[in-house]
Amino acid sequence: IAPPKKKDIDPLPTIYHSEIEYEPFEKNFYTQHDDIAALDEEQVRELRRTLGVKVTGPSPPKPVTSFGHFGFDEQLIKAVRKAEYTQPTPIQAQAVPTALSGRDIIGIAKTGSGKTAAFIWPMLMHVMDQKQLKPGDGPIGLILAPTRELSLQIYNEAKKFGKVYNLNVVCCYGGGSKWEQSKALEQGAEIIVATPGRMIDMVKMKATNLRRVTFLVLDEADRMFHMGFEPQVRSICNHVRPDRQCLMFSATFKKRIERLARDVLTDPVRIVQGD
Ligand code: ADP
Repeated sequence: IAPPKKKDIDPLPTIYHSEIEYEPFEKNFYTQHDDIAALDEEQVRELRRTLGVKVTGPSPPKPVTSFGHFGFDEQLIKAVRKAEYTQPTPIQAQAVPTALSGRDIIGIAKTGSGKTAAFIWPMLMHVMDQKQLKPGDGPIGLILAPTRELSLQIYNEAKKFGKVYNLNVVCCYGGGSKWEQSKALEQGAEIIVATPGRMIDMVKMKATNLRRVTFLVLDEADRMFHMGFEPQVRSICNHVRPDRQCLMFSATFKKRIERLARDVLTDPVRIVQGD
């Protein structure tokens, strides 16, 4: 008998979700704006054509055309204005209402499309609605990204908007100091941005845990796979409560990504930007 392949070994100990008492949580924060509610099917089709987004999946929300349609509070709108964003990008126009509705998403978009903010903003709304962290609690929002560079980019965007609500964001990536990262986590962080291997290390070191994660993002999933992180990504997904909201982004949509999407997403809305 061949020894088990490395990828078949779960890096984290087996978890039985049925034995854990998870508290119920809310994931729908979307109130459709009257202007958007008034759009008929043909207008929605036309708007999606103009935006260059294709949308499939069960009953996706309509896209929007301005930041005012997101229903953000005054503080967040102010931060968006301060960032000098005047209009949602196409992926934001469709993905933000979808994510705010609590839906899972598989997003296919190129870099530079503005997808970071498309998941950060709904994540902030989600985090702000949950009970405050208690000492020893792990994050509510978790974002996995393939590289140190990308994690830091996401971290900066999350900090920029997270500071509106005084949220703590911590970034954990391979190659950085485990000691420093675990110290930062022990202070409590509502949001963690991490590379998959380092996130596993942090959980194993008990610097944090996945029990409170209810909003999970897998960014550049195809690159995480190319870098050999599939077992770590799958392990983390399996250790997060099954009724979480999960958003997955990828530049391509090949068989492996499709399989992951099937395994980790529930009734996802599929949003494809560009051709
Ligand atoms: P992606 O994650 O799709 O590669 P980013 O989210 O990093 O792309 O966005 C690319 C750049 O566009 C960033 O500098 C970001 O600050 C900026 N950006 C994001 N949303 C908007 C917007 N609505 N209007 C103008 N600029 C934006």
